Amino acid sequence: MSKSYSLRTLLSGTSLPRNEAHLLMAHVLDKHYQLARSTIISHDEMELNKPALEEWQTLESRRLHGEPVAYLIGKKGFHNIELQVAPGVLIPRPETELLVDIALQEIKRIKNSTQNPKILDLGTGSGAIALAIANEAPNAQVLATDQSPEAIAIANLNTKTLALEVRVEFAQGSWYQALKENNIFDIIVSNPPYIPSQDPHLIEGDLRFEPADALTDHSTGLSCLEAIIWGAKDHLKPMGLLAVEHGYDQSNAVVELMKTAGLSDIQTHPDLSGHLRVASARK
Ligand code: GLN
Repeated sequence: MSKSYSLRTLLSGTSLPRNEAHLLMAHVLDKHYQLARSTIISHDEMELNKPALEEWQTLESRRLHGEPVAYLIGKKGFHNIELQVAPGVLIPRPETELLVDIALQEIKRIKNSTQNPKILDLGTGSGAIALAIANEAPNAQVLATDQSPEAIAIANLNTKTLALEVRVEFAQGSWYQALKENNIFDIIVSNPPYIPSQDPHLIEGDLRFEPADALTDHSTGLSCLEAIIWGAKDHLKPMGLLAVEHGYDQSNAVVELMKTAGLSDIQTHPDLSGHLRVASARK
């Protein structure tokens, strides 16, 4: 009898965690058969044909060698949207949704005085923060920057897929240098590279496969945060809000930077696991 390559056999025989195996198999079923993920349960006796089987085996082996699931399937859910991702951009993280929620709350707060709030997302990567905000706030005008042309290309692609081109624009360059003069905003958000260069996490797990420049400032971890905080006053309207993500142990340092930069109403925000991961302040 020939060997069985049914979905059930393949999925019960893999050493990958169940959720990861299902994500990879769903990708194979979609690509080779245009079938939905639910097929895994509803038709688990289905046998994969040769190209589909080979693809499954390649994906399984690459994942077992550490490549992130999001890069293997080319997409990642974030807030209420799905983004295309590739090794040129950081994989959006659930904790970063906190920045989106803070921006959305501020947009709501100012809606009586500001009809079309202007938002700046510094270091946008896949466009995750900028696009999630624009998707939820139909009046928001978003400018997103990145130093990497590859990131801007992926972010542009995501903008088109989500049909947000009219309200989301991109500019290439380092932090505020990407902007034209006299460009000021109601809200500035950023998830900059903040991992210190010596942090051992950089050579573990998914991070090994992500762009180093999106993860670390190649220094203490605080240099990009400092540049963003120091420049904020020049690019915010009066009372405008700055919100930045930072590492789990950087809250005090970031608050100090905000005080030194002369910002007011400094607040710290916990993520879902209770770690302070975002700091905000006003001009
Ligand atoms: N949040 C990412 C991590 O800890 C780091 C991203 C960043 O440096 N902005 O893995």
